[in-house]
Amino acid sequence: MTNPLYDRLFAPLASRDSDLLLLADGTAISGRAFLSRVHRLANALTGAGLKPGDRLAVQVEKSPEALALYGACVAAGVVFLPLNTAYTAAELEYFITDSEAGAVVCGPAAETTVRGITSVPVLTLDAAGQGTLTDAADRAADSFAPVDRARDDLAALLYTSGTTGRSKGAMLSQWNLLSNTEVLVTEWRFTEADILLHALPIFHTHGLFVASNVVLASGGTMVFLPRFDADTVIKWLPRVTSMMGVPTFYTRLLSDARFTKDLTANMRLFTSGSAPLLAETHREFEARTGHRILERYGMTETNMNTSNPYDGDRRAGTVGFPLPGVELKITDPETGATLPDGEAGLIEVRGDNVFQGYWRMPEKTAAELRADGFFITGDIGTVDGDGYVHIVGRAKDLIISGGYNIYPKEIELLLDEQPGVLESAVIGVPHPDFGEGVVAVLVAAPGQSIDADAIRSVASDRLAKFKQPKVIEVVPELPRNTMGKVQKNLLRDQFAGVFT
Ligand code: ATP
Ligand code: MG
Repeated sequence: MTNPLYDRLFAPLASRDSDLLLLADGTAISGRAFLSRVHRLANALTGAGLKPGDRLAVQVEKSPEALALYGACVAAGVVFLPLNTAYTAAELEYFITDSEAGAVVCGPAAETTVRGITSVPVLTLDAAGQGTLTDAADRAADSFAPVDRARDDLAALLYTSGTTGRSKGAMLSQWNLLSNTEVLVTEWRFTEADILLHALPIFHTHGLFVASNVVLASGGTMVFLPRFDADTVIKWLPRVTSMMGVPTFYTRLLSDARFTKDLTANMRLFTSGSAPLLAETHREFEARTGHRILERYGMTETNMNTSNPYDGDRRAGTVGFPLPGVELKITDPETGATLPDGEAGLIEVRGDNVFQGYWRMPEKTAAELRADGFFITGDIGTVDGDGYVHIVGRAKDLIISGGYNIYPKEIELLLDEQPGVLESAVIGVPHPDFGEGVVAVLVAAPGQSIDADAIRSVASDRLAKFKQPKVIEVVPELPRNTMGKVQKNLLRDQFAGVFT
């Protein structure tokens, strides 16, 4: 009997007495103890009637028990379907119904709501790892024979972040996850000596698959924190070797005077992804700590596609090279033809990491996953003369004004450099003459103010007329989701009426 993902990530824990998880309260969980929870939970899931291939929808706070639940699903062949803890009842209803979940695990406060949505079994798990699921696991046996799985069997149904529209369920096979994990362990040099600071949520691919799978596969340890909190992270940094973060983690650390070179002396690797890392943050980080953040690029549908090199030049403002086993090309959005280096177009990727399709969305799958295996990511990018991939933005954020294509990133880079500007988001909103008009939304740097006239004057010197923002708005902060992604759709709604 084989179960490739279980055999590689979880089975080795059976003989591991060293710590797998270090918790904020100072307690530790050994590999062996963790695997025992995985087994008990797998028995509890089977007891609740779940069969291989059934989906388990899980909306719970991050805890060791929640991570063990992922392992339990792998062991039992149940398709793990984690959900953002911020989702409201209406959103939950969509995911539970759309996925035809065979059971749901939720926080105790949501139990009544969830029971109103579905008639399948509902179990609870709270932030402390307690609830009816834990009770069932406590009563169950602590051994479990993992079910037989093939590489192409689904391991997870992971919904995309919903940044550009309604979230889509990405069907990820065991091999999609495992092949990418192996590549990342090697590329990023993870070993059993690593202690990873894990402050990411585990309902998203970054914290769940990139971070947790890499540590499980390498035999390392995780400092498993419920969320990012600067005080706690600063306390743990001297004791860890690596950290994976979204850009906001790093900007928050940089704004804290306690974050120094000494504090990071034991670190060997900081990685960043899920949203663009400003080149300025990259440089400021190096100046402060001596470490160059390794930026990489991935998405729910593919796990990781590209990474800056571990050895070699980690270039600010780029996402590095395609990972081994990942083919990447830049194509013309209209014709699909491959474009020469240096030209901006759609990023397409092919490899073992690419998902099996969108759950119950055959048209969407057919539109984005080509018959030859290339996935049209929806991101616009370029490949430079040295082979580094640059992300220019999302195709859906492209502005078409007066018939011209405008990439917001080009304007944002200029705006970000201006005195008093902390960050910017450039969007297109309906314009009676031009179709769309360019709006610049700016955030002032702490204690500074923004001189809109000065910015207009720089824009008119440096940008073609059609690219110049027609309206400049200053806001206290940009709307971001939990992964630090700027929600341009909210800005487009907010400023939809400025030209009409
Ligand atoms: P949806 O597909 O539902 O609109 P989403 O694309 O934000 O949401 P995710 O799969 O969480 O959902 O995010 C993947 C996207 O995140 C990528 O397509 C890309 O736009 C962005 N991204 C990831 N890493 C980087 C990076 N290093 N730099 C810039 N963008 C990144
Ligand atoms: Mg997406």
